Amino acid sequence: MTIEDRAARLRVLEKEASACINCRLHQGRTTVVFGDGAPNADLMFIGEGPGQHEDLQGVPFVGRSGQLLSTLLERVGLSRPEVYIANVVKCRPPGNRDPRQDEIDACKGYLVEQIKLIDPAVVVTLGNFSTKLLLKTQVGITRMRGQAYPWWGRHVVPTFHPAAALRNGPRVVEEMVSDLRLATQVIEQRTLPVEDAPGEARPPEQIGLFQ
Ligand code: SF4
Repeated sequence: MTIEDRAARLRVLEKEASACINCRLHQGRTTVVFGDGAPNADLMFIGEGPGQHEDLQGVPFVGRSGQLLSTLLERVGLSRPEVYIANVVKCRPPGNRDPRQDEIDACKGYLVEQIKLIDPAVVVTLGNFSTKLLLKTQVGITRMRGQAYPWWGRHVVPTFHPAAALRNGPRVVEEMVSDLRLATQVIEQRTLPVEDAPGEARPPEQIGLFQ
């Protein structure tokens, strides 16, 4: 698929999401925060859900967390326009609570389609929530990070949420840089076959993301 085709199909999907009322989160949103970045990105970030600034601006990872993420990308030789950033749910949960399972289920079609269209070599999950969800684990981010996990024909590299780095200081920042370096190394080696877990590679529409 050409980059123009991907961009066009993402725009159609974003337009659809912008009018979505498939779960209760539509009631409190200002804007649907669909996603942002390159339609053919090798590296895709997945966070939890929009916060206050994102809800107001309609863009994921703005504010201090977004600024830190941009700085971390620069440290590994990337820029924000080169990557794609999305969240598990596209509307802000009230009070920044975790999304509930029925909200995740209602919204997952958008994320699956984004992964399918962008087709990144590496998905970086930001924080506990998206890491546990995608990798189906109860192990916390502190133990999960620092490794690349084969995942449906690509890899997941978990790392901290930038908000955690802002709270906890330089040690967490440096661990995030290390994780992003790992992600770039995995991308460079992407011609190597990826062993899927479990079973054989499957098309993204069959990804059992959140079951
Ligand atoms: S969170 Fe997702 S499913 Fe729920 S209203 Fe927003 S776009 Fe629709």
